[in-house]
Amino acid sequence: MRTFWHKSYVCPVCNSQFEAVRIFSNAIKIKSRESDLKPVYDGVNVLMFQLVSCPKCLYTSFEDDFGELQSSHVEAIKKMHEKLKGFEIELSENKSVRDAAVQYNIAAVMYVAREKFFRAAESFLKLAWLYRDAGAPDEEKKALERAKEMFLKSYMEEDLSEDRQIAVLFYLGEIEKRLGNRKEATRWFSELFKRFSKSDSIYVKQARQEWQEVSFEK
Ligand SMILES: [Zn+2]
Repeated sequence: MRTFWHKSYVCPVCNSQFEAVRIFSNAIKIKSRESDLKPVYDGVNVLMFQLVSCPKCLYTSFEDDFGELQSSHVEAIKKMHEKLKGFEIELSENKSVRDAAVQYNIAAVMYVAREKFFRAAESFLKLAWLYRDAGAPDEEKKALERAKEMFLKSYMEEDLSEDRQIAVLFYLGEIEKRLGNRKEATRWFSELFKRFSKSDSIYVKQARQEWQEVSFEK
């Protein structure tokens, strides 16, 4: 069974045409999920291939919104090119964890420039997951701190759908729990139950279990 294929893209920033590595959907196998719902993959680690980067200007985003860019944001992103010059990232199927980590960092900065804080938070969260898989707890913790900042900014400033509000509250609680801040964790989970107790979202279900752990741990 083949794992990878190549898809064509046109960069919305520099207009170059290029191909990026994608994973065939039937090659994606989720074995289990961790307490923050991080998937554990059997076989290829999908976290390595969720972003698309233009090899010429390094514009980077998640695959599903690569082409959507307002002209004012294009200008903001073009200004970042100077800083990114000299960065060498391997983008093929042979990329390393370091290459994928650089991609997540670039994506986060670019989402901030686009004022998409939820997606910036998601970039840092997945960066943390990548480091967890690589057995790098200090790096994971740093990425979780940055994800927390962005989820908070998203919660305060963005007009979020109900699904995203639920996800933000869940991750604020879950990240605080993982960082050892039980009081804060309880506060966010309680806020989630107060506002969305009737939701059948998997986040609300998982949060109940997590809330019990932080509330009754000694
Ligand atoms: Zn480009």
